[in-house]
Amino acid sequence: MSITSRRGQASAPNTAAFTSRRRFLTTALQTTLVAGAGGAALTACADDGTTPSSVASSAGHTLAGTYPPSAPPVADGNQALQRLQEGNARFVADREENLDEGIARRVAVSKGQTPFATVLGCVDSRVPIELVFDQGLGDLVVVRSAGEALDHSVTGSLEFGVAELHTPLLMVLGHQRCGALTATMKAVDAGRRTAEAGEMDYLVDTLAPAVRQVAGKPGDRLTNAIHANVDLVLATLRQSPVIGPLEKSGKLKLVGAYYELDTGKVMLHQ
Ligand SMILES: [Zn+2]
Repeated sequence: MSITSRRGQASAPNTAAFTSRRRFLTTALQTTLVAGAGGAALTACADDGTTPSSVASSAGHTLAGTYPPSAPPVADGNQALQRLQEGNARFVADREENLDEGIARRVAVSKGQTPFATVLGCVDSRVPIELVFDQGLGDLVVVRSAGEALDHSVTGSLEFGVAELHTPLLMVLGHQRCGALTATMKAVDAGRRTAEAGEMDYLVDTLAPAVRQVAGKPGDRLTNAIHANVDLVLATLRQSPVIGPLEKSGKLKLVGAYYELDTGKVMLHQ
């Protein structure tokens, strides 16, 4: 079974597509190195038939400045959210397009960026934001901190994404079995902080309200705390003098979400 890519080409099943993409990148990189050593060698290489047609085509586009079309701009936060959800559906189905990280795209976005969404996620190695949403270079503003904990830098970075880069969507993405909230829960239960040197106590102090908020509630305590934390982060961000007014004006959509490690699915908070 094949899927239709954003470039309108049929893609092979995922494993084969991944392999061929890696081969393409390797070949194209070698081609670029040849070009770097010999000036216009890249064009000559693309024209002399010694390189695969896909490489020749991509290299020619790069030199000519006619880049492959990326997805059209989103009109609003709802469209941005739909694009994220479609990308996550591809990720879940193991049918990623993975096309917007090639050389032509890299060259195109080197001239500027128009990301369509800002996402705050956890540092957890199992939740890489671009991969989870099957997005490429220049598509997302990504800020990550353990447990999505806010501080001045995190909040300022999110404000930069929505106010300076004008993304119409800001998502806060919690995830299943979050280690930061697990550690916070243990610290709260023990009535102490982490006892570690350094700054990790800041995380515990910041995430503890979510743990306390779900005390005594039915269901899995950790999962409840993860969801509560997302909602608390959103509530705090709405107090930002940059983010709050943008949402009120209708230019920005704020949404909370939960990534399930077991399935790869991102589920929206209601
Ligand atoms: Zn986490």
